[in-house]
Amino acid sequence: MHLILLGPPGAGKGTQAQRIAAARRLVQLSSGDILRSEVRAGSEVGRRARSFMDQGTLVPDAIITEVMLAGIDRVPREPGFVLDGFPRTVAQAEALEAGLAARGMRIDAVLNFDMPDGDIVRRIVGRRTCSNCHATYNVEFLPPRSTDVCDVCGQRLTQRDDDREEVVVTRLRTYRAQTAPLVNYYQGKGLLRNVDASAAPETVEAAVRRILDGLGAVG
Ligand code: AMP
Repeated sequence: MHLILLGPPGAGKGTQAQRIAAARRLVQLSSGDILRSEVRAGSEVGRRARSFMDQGTLVPDAIITEVMLAGIDRVPREPGFVLDGFPRTVAQAEALEAGLAARGMRIDAVLNFDMPDGDIVRRIVGRRTCSNCHATYNVEFLPPRSTDVCDVCGQRLTQRDDDREEVVVTRLRTYRAQTAPLVNYYQGKGLLRNVDASAAPETVEAAVRRILDGLGAVG
């Protein structure tokens, strides 16, 4: 199964991608996590991506497409992958489709996590991430058992640099201008499945499970 999670920053794509990956034994490929690890490693890609990420704008299509196709080539073909945060432009979607076709693969479904802008800012500002295992939490909606400590691995939770309110506004604007057109793009291909992302994580997870079961997947 090859899935794409689409939706504005803070809509819970990362959280749901982790849950889908665990439940279906899929590999989660999160473009933001991959780029952040390139930045931490000080690689050429990381150096080129960093200023865009700091500003909340998109890394150029050619860079991210190459990084993600390389990621796809590194994971086992079966049972598949869930892409979180990629593609983010129509050009990336076209490059992905061509890249997958060249590898004898295709996307099975695109889950569109929709949410009003006001809720998004509240969610992002409360978001905390484990610096070690990348598990995500929210101080308001999905708190860890003990404050600022990861439930999974016990490391400290941190706030992402680009989760500050002024950068969030740019990221949302970027989403609406450059990524939202993908909703119509994938609707036109008959791949889009809408998910109400404003519900609690367990409710969203159940909705996602029903959609994936409907695709004929084994859960
Ligand atoms: P995320 O963790 O998905 O919110 O991504 C963090 C940042 O990484 C974004 O604000 C962009 O600067 C960059 N980024 C992640 N995915 C992409 C993508 N598909 N295309 C361009 N830039 C991306």
